[in-house]
Amino acid sequence: MAHLSSIRVHSLCLPTHSLTLCVFLQGMAFSLPERQILGIHGLLPPKVETQDIQAMRFQNNLKNMTDPLQKYIYLMGIQERNERLFYRVLMEDIEELMPIVYTPTVGLACTHYGHIFRRPKGLFISIRDKGHIRSILDNWPETNVAVIVVTDGERILGLGDLGVYGMGIPVGKLCLYTACAGIRPERCLPVAIDVGTNNQTLLQDPLYMGLYQERDRSQAYDDLIDEFMEAVVEKYGQDTLIQFEDFGNHNAFRFLRKYREKYCTFNDDIQGTAAVALAGLLAAQRALGKPITEHRVLFLGAGEAALGIANLIVMAMMERGMTQAEARNKIWLYDKDGLLVKETDSNQEAFLHDSPGTVESFLDAVNTIKPTAIIGVSGAGRLFTHDVIKSMGTLNERPIIFALSNPTNKAECTAEDAYTLTDGRCLFASGSPFGPVTLNGRIYTPGQGNNAYIFPGVALAVILSGVRHISDKVFLEAAKTLAEQLTDKELEEGRLYPPLSNIREVSIQMAVKVVEFVYANGMAFRYPEPTDKDSFVRATVWDTHYDSFEPDTYDWPGQDVFITRN
Ligand code: NAD
Repeated sequence: MAHLSSIRVHSLCLPTHSLTLCVFLQGMAFSLPERQILGIHGLLPPKVETQDIQAMRFQNNLKNMTDPLQKYIYLMGIQERNERLFYRVLMEDIEELMPIVYTPTVGLACTHYGHIFRRPKGLFISIRDKGHIRSILDNWPETNVAVIVVTDGERILGLGDLGVYGMGIPVGKLCLYTACAGIRPERCLPVAIDVGTNNQTLLQDPLYMGLYQERDRSQAYDDLIDEFMEAVVEKYGQDTLIQFEDFGNHNAFRFLRKYREKYCTFNDDIQGTAAVALAGLLAAQRALGKPITEHRVLFLGAGEAALGIANLIVMAMMERGMTQAEARNKIWLYDKDGLLVKETDSNQEAFLHDSPGTVESFLDAVNTIKPTAIIGVSGAGRLFTHDVIKSMGTLNERPIIFALSNPTNKAECTAEDAYTLTDGRCLFASGSPFGPVTLNGRIYTPGQGNNAYIFPGVALAVILSGVRHISDKVFLEAAKTLAEQLTDKELEEGRLYPPLSNIREVSIQMAVKVVEFVYANGMAFRYPEPTDKDSFVRATVWDTHYDSFEPDTYDWPGQDVFITRN
């Protein structure tokens, strides 16, 4: 039984009246003695409700809403008022609600952030705060932060520069850390770094909430990020996990290189994406009975996601005995100016190959390179044309087609097109969800290559085992674990990923495997090493039952004890 003092209240969500505050924590689920002690008797209807009933009301309200943005606003409101109820409902209906809390609806929410704003969530640090970041961190009411998701808002999903409106992304991502891996919400800190925006619409919008200035691209920006990293470890400790999210291409790679050996950090757009895409390919390999080394992969788009995926595929191929050069030769990149070849002016040297001849379009590239897999990560819309899909169907008995760009209208093709134009033979995955497709009486369930299959499980393992630097080998291990969790029956249904409804168990099992891996490979720094890793991981998982307290045994010093700001 928890004491009253363990009731956690976020200072930013404090209602003006401390007694009313208690109503917000679990609403009508407070028992009569609890209500009396808290001094809220009479402030709630007389019935004492179970969480089950509260969840039913919450779910019914959601069902009656048709507009995804309206659902998002409603969900975020419940998160502020009753965190445990919010996570319970999110977890129970994760397949339906993840697309609201995260992509694609979160993209819409970010675009309209200043217009739908109710209450601030997360920590805002602007370039004007240079020199004072540590004191801003001190304003955050939680001291036990284990994981931070930080964005500078420059490249939000496939939507571009949304400046400080990008805060919706760290908030949404951290919801998934808790919902998928059971990481306690108070251990998660969303951060938006505001260095301005080049989005002219926002700069002219009176409701915009960030600095009205063009992005600062000077040394001051780098100094700000350096100061942020240093302040975080000073405040929360060396093994605080800092996840970079939706930074612009040029900065994302730079910061990953700069910080990965100095801090406990990763970039989800690069490394998380890589792991989830590789897991899809490994699952496809299971379906085809053909090792990954026999694949030839053509990417549409040569940005963060493509490079991350390409490099992890190379690692997976090398693990199967190929040299690095052999593996890289299996991978081709096609960007907006065409196929990347040796003559291309590009910094992707690792994947520049001898020109295969004249290639004037992506269709040409497909017909020339004859890939077994095409992976779309351009964010540029329906570029896997009917002809491209048909060619893949002609070249391969079971073509692999991943249309990973977000949101849904940016996906390179629809699931329906992919299945229909290949007579149901393709192995398809997308970044945003597509519903099942019925073709010739058979139902195909498209895979959603959602990074949420990877980052919560990896983060849980990293936090629990005290990993200092997150090697790409950790992501390779996570990808293999994810592919292994798919059952044969699910593979037969056309799935390349386990059902999202099972993501809590998938994340826990991944965390267990990664904990085993990091201890076995000398990457873990938390001692003593747990002998039973499964119980070790499961014991930490946060659950959504209300903390109750025993008023009779509680030595009550006064009402203020109900508000803890530690
Ligand atoms: P990015 O901006 O780093 O890269 C996009 C690349 O595509 C750039 O190199 C750009 O030049 C290229 N490009 C743009 N238009 C093109 C065109 N018409 N033809 C060919 N290339 C073109 O972005 P990113 O982080 O690599 O993300 C790209 C897309 O992938 C986004 O839509 C993002 O939402 C999606 N994504 C999906 C997942 C997932 O499904 N799990 C994960 C990460 C990113």
